Amino acid sequence: MRAMATTVLRGIVLILFWALSVRAEQGVAQQTTNEVIAIRAGKLIDVDGGRAVANQVILIRGGKIEAIGEGLAIPAGATIIDLSKMTVLPGLIDCHTHLADGAHDDNGDPMSQLKRTASQVVLESIPNARVTLESGFTTVRDVGVYRALNDLALRDAINKGYVAGPRMFVAGAYITITGGAGAMTGFAPDITLPWDLRYGEANSPWEVRQKVRQLAHDGVDHIKVLSTGAVLTHGSNPNASEFTPEELQAAVSEASNFGLRVEAHAHAPTGIKNAIRAGVASIEHATLIDDEGITMAKERGTYLDMDIYDEECIQEAGKSSHIPLDFLEHDRNLGEAQRQRFTKALRAGVKMSFGTDAGVCPYGVAARQFAFMVKYGMTPMQAIQSATSSAADLLGKADFLGSLKPGKYADVIAVDGDPLADIRALERVSFVMKEGKIYKQ
Ligand SMILES: [Zn+2]
Repeated sequence: MRAMATTVLRGIVLILFWALSVRAEQGVAQQTTNEVIAIRAGKLIDVDGGRAVANQVILIRGGKIEAIGEGLAIPAGATIIDLSKMTVLPGLIDCHTHLADGAHDDNGDPMSQLKRTASQVVLESIPNARVTLESGFTTVRDVGVYRALNDLALRDAINKGYVAGPRMFVAGAYITITGGAGAMTGFAPDITLPWDLRYGEANSPWEVRQKVRQLAHDGVDHIKVLSTGAVLTHGSNPNASEFTPEELQAAVSEASNFGLRVEAHAHAPTGIKNAIRAGVASIEHATLIDDEGITMAKERGTYLDMDIYDEECIQEAGKSSHIPLDFLEHDRNLGEAQRQRFTKALRAGVKMSFGTDAGVCPYGVAARQFAFMVKYGMTPMQAIQSATSSAADLLGKADFLGSLKPGKYADVIAVDGDPLADIRALERVSFVMKEGKIYKQ
């Protein structure tokens, strides 16, 4: 009886909290709903149409684009933002980041995670989020974190306005075999790591399903599995297959029960093909994808999310001998091989998204990858689409992200010059708006 009374009381308290929070949200919405912002865009990149258009006006209300077109009438009282001498684009999307792993660490050794508490790591991640947003990336798909669920904490803090950062879609943890590419490795067998450093370890299809269920319950936005070994993990071999086809299928099947998509880290051809067959949405790195893998990705519409700039940062860190030698050994020859396969997959017509593995290179320099994508075969428009319309499609969020269209979020950036003529203009973004709010001007 007493237990029942407690339950009823708890129910009432919860309803009260819910009512209060709904009122708080409505209050925020009301403040912004009536304010109209008008952006005058000199040149605008229409990524859906694959063309540049001139003299556009973007009308924004309540954080969303209300109308867009040439010479639209600007309502009286609207706040006018003059970008008539600039090129305006949709906010960029990086589909492969690790923003919540703390300060960028020049030696790239995951063991440095053990010298800080989880709270320290997530607080150190605040500048990562800020510089990412200020460099023009208004959305990221964050694909794993060593300290499980730190990424949810950062995502939610950004959504609540506590810290400035891109809209984050997070994985919560790496789902990986014990000792695998996403595990914290390199310790003596009698050292037991805390729960959050081994949260995603799974060693059978049913354990994989259990992890997916747990992460879905925790509130993640997508699922990250590791299909092969990794470059930046001790005792890992990028050429080795890790999860079996059955385990990968279990991940995709269980994730789909919760409406979640799966991305698979994979360097070696067998692991890449196992993951494509299992039905993942994207292959991360896809370093050594072979011709059969390219054909399969093309047939099934699997995205390749190839971080072809990272080699620059890994080799640079190698010169100053900051990076562990076993990581450099893993990396040898992989960089150039990946770039050649990028060109091959592109020519075959495989869907390509923009992902940088931010955290390998310092945060805030992701846009440097655009020039490499162009160097290895993309047109500047294709490179921009990979980080806008294609990225939004990969995330399953094309209804409200990825281009400047009525009904979508007012995620708007601007650069001096013309990125279609010089793609490196995207490395110098001088205006950033996310959901109608200006973060850089
Ligand atoms: Zn990564």
